[in-house]
Amino acid sequence: MKTLLKNGLIADGSGKPLYKADVLLSGNVIEKIAENVVAEDAEIVDCTGLVVAPGFIDAHSHNDFFYDYPDAEKFYRPFLRQGITTQITGNCGFSPFGIAADSKFKDKVGGGLFHAKNPGSFKEFVSSAEGNLFVNVVPLVGHGTTRISVSGYDPTPLSPSQIEEEMKLVDEAMENGAFGGSFGFMYEPGMYSKTDELLAFASRIQKYDGILTIHPRAESKVALGYPLISKPHIEIALDEIIDIMEKTKVRTEYSHLIFVGKSSWPSVEPMLKKLHDYNEKGFRIAYDCYAFTYGASVITIVLPPWYLALSKEDRKKPFNMFKLKVMTYLTKVLLGIDFCDFTVAYVSDEHKQYEGKTVSECAREEGLSDFDMYIKLVDLSNGQGRLYLDKYYNDQIINRLMTDDLSVFMTDAWVEEAGTQNGAAFQCFPYFLVRAKQNDIPLESVVRKMTGATAERFKIPQRGFLKEGYYADVTVFDYDNVKVDPKTPDFTPKGIKHVFVNGEAVVKDEVYSAKTAGKVILKK
Ligand SMILES: [Zn+2]
Repeated sequence: MKTLLKNGLIADGSGKPLYKADVLLSGNVIEKIAENVVAEDAEIVDCTGLVVAPGFIDAHSHNDFFYDYPDAEKFYRPFLRQGITTQITGNCGFSPFGIAADSKFKDKVGGGLFHAKNPGSFKEFVSSAEGNLFVNVVPLVGHGTTRISVSGYDPTPLSPSQIEEEMKLVDEAMENGAFGGSFGFMYEPGMYSKTDELLAFASRIQKYDGILTIHPRAESKVALGYPLISKPHIEIALDEIIDIMEKTKVRTEYSHLIFVGKSSWPSVEPMLKKLHDYNEKGFRIAYDCYAFTYGASVITIVLPPWYLALSKEDRKKPFNMFKLKVMTYLTKVLLGIDFCDFTVAYVSDEHKQYEGKTVSECAREEGLSDFDMYIKLVDLSNGQGRLYLDKYYNDQIINRLMTDDLSVFMTDAWVEEAGTQNGAAFQCFPYFLVRAKQNDIPLESVVRKMTGATAERFKIPQRGFLKEGYYADVTVFDYDNVKVDPKTPDFTPKGIKHVFVNGEAVVKDEVYSAKTAGKVILKK
């Protein structure tokens, strides 16, 4: 099977300026890149006026949890439609593997956010995923999962022998081809781990020359668990990450660098400066970011733990309500967000009327105060609802990050079974292309952050670049006509013309056809 991509503009993933050439795909590899390639036996795809790029690499994904679902395909389709062919998975401490065969906590993997259907070892993951993947997967082992394997959600610090037990699970994954590991400091049980355990995990990843991705303990100026009068909590959280990196020398990826709430935005420059300073000192730390100003969150996001711990009856008592009202007000002011920044994603199957509206809009419709409406939604969802929270960034911050040397791009999104979808699952990479065009950011540098830069950072072999002999992951797009609709989260972007995964066309003339052409990529 040969395909000849004729007369395209090549953005090869290295960041060098675009040039005109033909690209010949043969089987699952790129056979030739040159002007005027002739191949009698190849199917010819006219790429005149189109950009031919390596398949996009999503630097932060959770899509390792869905490959064994009966309806798996729907979880991958929107990513392929945006041109993504490879995803780095196992982030935020969650991976569906890293669980001992005799663990008592197998059913607990996923931290409440995800559900692993077949939790097991890394080797078991590889063999069950092979042949069932719609995209390529670059697996990381989640620290949270290895800790769940040992002690479930128990907050008690691990003993030295329990830490050793955890490290055996890390060894199993790393020896068999995982690319690194991940921490999730905002999630159970990773949030309970003490320094000795965290350093043991980071050193073990470093021993195999793996990368460590870290979901920080705070992503805003104020966060729970920090003293109120101090430097911004998001900056203290970065210090914790840097401390782990300095002590272990592990290659470090700050996961999804976001600045939640307006009051966090003054931290952008000091944090970028710190990251650059450490690179100059010889450490390897960088970050990923995304193209939307909002992100997914739980409905209880601004509710304090004392309130969540109350019974239903106690929550309704006037004193508790008053205290909550004051605290919620303060939280909003300190963060620099408001109820108009909360878009309802899901309440329950019985309350679909709220989906896609902000809490303030719902309040106006029902003649309630914003606060009362918010509490009503929390109650209607039994605290299980979802929100999209705006003010992660503004447009200027996204531009700043897009043009910074240390950033690569990611979605951190997954397809939801119900309710409003996360726009990043459907449109994030094309949205970067649109932003590049609007702001005159050189296309070659943006493509590099979607492809080659990520492959280099995660040490993914033979992908991320258009090079002869490399795997035939290719995305062809019409740069002048890429269209997104951020207000319609599940909009299918326009202008992503052709997508090849390991040489197989999964999108052709913007028509998608499902193929399990993906692979588990293993670290060499
Ligand atoms: Zn995360």
